[in-house]
Amino acid sequence: MSTPPLDRRRFLTRSAAGLGALSTVLATGCDPQQQAAKEPVQAIPAEDVDLVGPRPPYKGPNVVLIRFGGGVRRRETVAFPDQTWCPFVVHELAQQGVLFTNVEIANKPGVSTSHGQGTLFILTGQYAHYEDFEKRPLAERFVSPIPTIFEYLRRTYDIPEYQTLIVNGEDRVNEDFYTFSNHHQYGIHYKSTVLSLYRFKTYLLREEVKHGNFSEPVRAQKEKQLREMEAKDYRTVDHTVQSPELDRFWEGWKQYYGTTGLVNPRGDRVLTALALRAIKELQPRLMMVNYQDADYVHWGNPHFYTRALAIMDDGIRQIYDAVQASESYRNNTVFVVVPDCGRDDNRTMSVPFQHHFNTKSAHEIFALIAWPRGQGPAKKTVVNRSLQQQISVTRTVGEIMNFATPHAAADSLLKVV
Ligand SMILES: [Zn+2]
Repeated sequence: MSTPPLDRRRFLTRSAAGLGALSTVLATGCDPQQQAAKEPVQAIPAEDVDLVGPRPPYKGPNVVLIRFGGGVRRRETVAFPDQTWCPFVVHELAQQGVLFTNVEIANKPGVSTSHGQGTLFILTGQYAHYEDFEKRPLAERFVSPIPTIFEYLRRTYDIPEYQTLIVNGEDRVNEDFYTFSNHHQYGIHYKSTVLSLYRFKTYLLREEVKHGNFSEPVRAQKEKQLREMEAKDYRTVDHTVQSPELDRFWEGWKQYYGTTGLVNPRGDRVLTALALRAIKELQPRLMMVNYQDADYVHWGNPHFYTRALAIMDDGIRQIYDAVQASESYRNNTVFVVVPDCGRDDNRTMSVPFQHHFNTKSAHEIFALIAWPRGQGPAKKTVVNRSLQQQISVTRTVGEIMNFATPHAAADSLLKVV
């Protein structure tokens, strides 16, 4: 590798310093070749949800859903197993499951191969065109019109919100808000919740405003700052409703890592740390971990990509080890791994996989389902034949956890095994 990697703080400073609109595109991973909108998704106030009555407790397996993200294509992962950058996923985790090496994101008008979009395809089981709900350029505050897997799960079973988790990165605050859809039968009453450093910082500031002893101008300043942070959550009307379980979780995080942000791990490693603590303290039934750092290759250094693959792979190994160490998770947890999108294979560029501009290879991904020992196929199964769809993951999770996904458009991946 020729240039030293930018650390995250420098990276953020540089992007904040304003390298122009292009940098913003690169930093947010937005796809400038997005197709023109057909029917934009409107943001509807998330009220008027039809509530169901009492629901049975959930007794099925836990699912850890890994967004193997930041745009990851097949070549460095599953296409050449001897040269993979994620050996744990491909060689070890796959021993207990089925590796689908030919998953694709549909190539049709309006379907973008990008991070927020891919995440919503996985969450909802439908390909759709997404754009910012106020049509602000690059804002990417998406709202799904159809339910997410979390809503299906919580509408079917009596599971508290804090046990349906999305673990999210610090650079993608927009993706903190994919927790529920605008569907009238689902929506906010069945939402999931997010663990992220942004949420932690909001918690800290809220606690400070509540308990701090400030002069009036300082208090006013802090309250203003808190309102601004809370306003980023563009979908929650009442910010005063907090969860005691989550407050305890953040209090524990604060005790351990302090408040400076200098001690806790950064980047995708913080997602792993959050997921590990969540398993111990919150016991999520469905947890989605939205890894993202492979996307740093937008800055043109190929090592950002391959190193991120190895960090994610190690993170998944740590989460797997934590599952093995936990009595209630060990024989009762299924892993599902799938990228948000692929990456280009553009031979005219010095880094051929720098972007994910809707080219063929940006549509070409993979998926892995891994069961607890003895509960999956007798030996590693690789499905190379036939194309599976990324949106099949939704119904697959529904099948594993035994809930219906009526709005998902593709069959379960397990249909072809
Ligand atoms: Zn990107």
